Amino acid sequence: METISDIQEMQRRCLKARADGQTIVLVPTMGYLHEGHLSLMREGRKRGELLVLSIFVNPAQFGQGEDLDRYPRDFERDEAMARECGVDLIFYPNAEAIYPDGYSTYVTVEGVLTTTLEGASRPTHFRGVTTVVTKLFTIVMPHVALFGSKDFQQLAVIRRMTEDLNLPVEIIGMPIIRENDGLAMSSRNVYLSEEERHQSLALVETLRNSVAAVAAGEKSANRILDRAEAILSAQKDLIIDYVKICNADTFEEVDAIDESSVMLLAAKVGKTRLIDNSYLMEQG
Ligand code: AMP
Repeated sequence: METISDIQEMQRRCLKARADGQTIVLVPTMGYLHEGHLSLMREGRKRGELLVLSIFVNPAQFGQGEDLDRYPRDFERDEAMARECGVDLIFYPNAEAIYPDGYSTYVTVEGVLTTTLEGASRPTHFRGVTTVVTKLFTIVMPHVALFGSKDFQQLAVIRRMTEDLNLPVEIIGMPIIRENDGLAMSSRNVYLSEEERHQSLALVETLRNSVAAVAAGEKSANRILDRAEAILSAQKDLIIDYVKICNADTFEEVDAIDESSVMLLAAKVGKTRLIDNSYLMEQG
């Protein structure tokens, strides 16, 4: 397994792989890997000859006062986990290389997709994501890129951008990987104290309760949201950022539940911001 930090060297390496007829698969991450990331790498391993993991804590997707400075990092641990998953190449650039002095170009997806939910709470977040993903695509030149549906809205934004800009990359969405007790895996879970970790389970409990209500015949989004808010509000250190039920394609809020309805939620537990989501009906 190689590690490359230099952008031009990475481009040369990937152009050579393409010229040799290799399929390049990219798994973009911010590092501090967990089973969620590993599931993307294992799937990626099956889909091409050159499996590239990028590790870059992207300053452009963090807002003022967010956790950029304390975001967990451990390159050696990540390297060992990547090797286990059969990664061929880690792209590990630094922020000065990605955003040198004078850097002025940003990619934005406009409309509801980027202004609701995460976009409403974190106004510059998706602009940072789409910009860095575009740069990763032009540096690594992947045929295939994998993203987790833990970041459900991000996946939709990246699909939209890829289609709109005719980027020749196949986007693969992967299921959410959870801890045994149901908490969605996240690099940020290490911030949680034992008590906060316990209260965080209200997120998955809310999703499960909502899925069960729909299975029992409830179709009213408002009634489901009332129950959801009650479950979340019962936790003393949890502050709801949003809990909404949207159409998975348009991200418009819905009144009546159908197959394309997804519940998306974000909350702060202590100082840690967590997100989770689930379709409310079984996907067939
Ligand atoms: P991050 O390092 O948090 O930017 O995540 C990198 C990629 O891993 C993104 O595509 C995430 O959606 C995905 N990911 C993060 N957590 C999970 C999870 N629990 N299950 C599946 N994918 C995940």
